[in-house]
Amino acid sequence: MCWYALADQQKPKVTILATGGTIAGAAATGTQSGYTSGAVTIDAMLAAVPGIDKIATVKGEQVANVGSQDMSFDILLKVAKRINAIAPNADVNGIVITHGTDTMEESAYFLNLTAKTDKPIVMVGSMRPSTAVSADGPLNLYNAVGVAADPKAKGRGVLVVMNDQIHAAHSLTKTSTTAVETFMSPGRGLVGVASYGKNDWYNSPIWKHTTQSEFDISNVTQLPRVDVIFADVDMPGDLIDASVAKGAKGIVIAGVGNGNMNKAAVDAASRAAKSGVIVVRASRVPTGLVGRNVELDDDKLGFIASYELNPQKARILLALALLKQRSLDDIQKLYDMY
Ligand code: ASP
Repeated sequence: MCWYALADQQKPKVTILATGGTIAGAAATGTQSGYTSGAVTIDAMLAAVPGIDKIATVKGEQVANVGSQDMSFDILLKVAKRINAIAPNADVNGIVITHGTDTMEESAYFLNLTAKTDKPIVMVGSMRPSTAVSADGPLNLYNAVGVAADPKAKGRGVLVVMNDQIHAAHSLTKTSTTAVETFMSPGRGLVGVASYGKNDWYNSPIWKHTTQSEFDISNVTQLPRVDVIFADVDMPGDLIDASVAKGAKGIVIAGVGNGNMNKAAVDAASRAAKSGVIVVRASRVPTGLVGRNVELDDDKLGFIASYELNPQKARILLALALLKQRSLDDIQKLYDMY
């Protein structure tokens, strides 16, 4: 569909919730690598995207302005609650969230589980600050608005639009520290592609999300502590003991291979599980699944397998799961469904 000739009253209405990131970053010159994230407001960002007002009526709200390395559950809860407050309004056809790329995948997954609407929710960022030569932010933002304004984006959960690609929150991951083509969805592939406001759709995510999600954060002000612990050669098990001592309610192991860890870590994780801390085995390997009872006896040890979720997303799901009392079986089922 072409949006260019739309009259004002036909134009979809898109609200942008801005949170910062490199897309709102600024440097002193156009060619330096150092810059400050979250320095530019949403109004200034919109002013740098010629023609965006032709594809939608766009309204911006500044919710936060941080580099996404400083994204917090406080801010994410605020964003989720704001989405849930405005989504039912007739003057909102779609929502765009500007966000840094560092933790975009976790935030997208968090909102995928906590936003309660079928309307398009699209996250967008950039790899180059707004002041850079060939900044990628303006076209990414244009495409994100084009996706949020597209009725075909409805019901696909939270999407991430960058570099002309449309990814699903469940499956995307950041793969390059600096390249413009940083996001990939290695297991499941793209949901679609976006080109100057026109979209082609390939897939719909199969995982439960948004309106089918059982997680309700309307009265939540804090999430339980869940730590991610990286497994490697000769790792000391006492990192796991320390996490338990610090009050973690859940621990995600970024395991080697199929969610494995050495004997010292298995012993410590099994102690943690016996004390009631939920232990999830994920993998530091970027593709493939972590299955139950493959090299470790999860049934005996009381562990959960993260299946397709990477450690950072497995942590989000566990933090939400732990908002209420659940059996190990029920928690495992969440990893199969979400
Ligand atoms: N550190 C930045 C951030 O995540 C990087 C970026 O946005 O690309 O906010």
